Amino acid sequence: VFVVFEGGEGAGKSTQVTRLAEALRGGGHDVVVTREPGATDVGARIRSLVLSPAEDGGVPSPRAEALLYAADRAHHVATVVRPALARGAVVISDRYVDSSLAYQGAGRTLPVPEVSWLSSWATGGLKPDLVVLLDVDPAVGMDRVDARGEGVDRLEGEHRSFHERVRYAFLDLAAADPKRYLVLDAARTAEEIGAEVTRRVDGLLSQ
Ligand code: C5P
Repeated sequence: VFVVFEGGEGAGKSTQVTRLAEALRGGGHDVVVTREPGATDVGARIRSLVLSPAEDGGVPSPRAEALLYAADRAHHVATVVRPALARGAVVISDRYVDSSLAYQGAGRTLPVPEVSWLSSWATGGLKPDLVVLLDVDPAVGMDRVDARGEGVDRLEGEHRSFHERVRYAFLDLAAADPKRYLVLDAARTAEEIGAEVTRRVDGLLSQ
């Protein structure tokens, strides 16, 4: 079973990934926790290319950025996700294809169908069984990130409208395929969100 968490900055994905992994491990499941970008050695190098400005302040152009995320994902799926699924593990990934559709597609205004095609080529068509979308107002999410002292990367420089496009792209993806998504308001408590996620994943595992 392949579960993905998606959402904007400060949505609380990593907290929920950890909670779900602990709950499942407590129930005796083999669980692999992973993330994009940067879960592998190759991916860590790609992550620094996309998320740390070059010495001259340059960042990859939108198409280059899309290709770098796709390369990270191709390697991640081939070396981490597929092998774990093949041995029967539950794989929990912090971000996957929808992040590219939202950030590189809607955010950087590349054509979403093209980014989708690129992702599906990179993954060989591997889709998650469940996507948990933690929906957060970008202003609230950014405040949370700032409160953690993680004013990271190039992200702070992005405009609010960028993050709003990203947010609505995630919501549109969920609305187009409601059976595959669990959309939760990230303003709720971590306990409440965790309980809903566990209930839904337990349902998947008992199928
Ligand atoms: O989830 P995490 O905070 O590690 O993601 C780092 C950043 O990478 C995100 O905040 C997002 O801005 C960016 N990102 C992106 N496109 C992706 C995945 C992540 O722009 N496909």
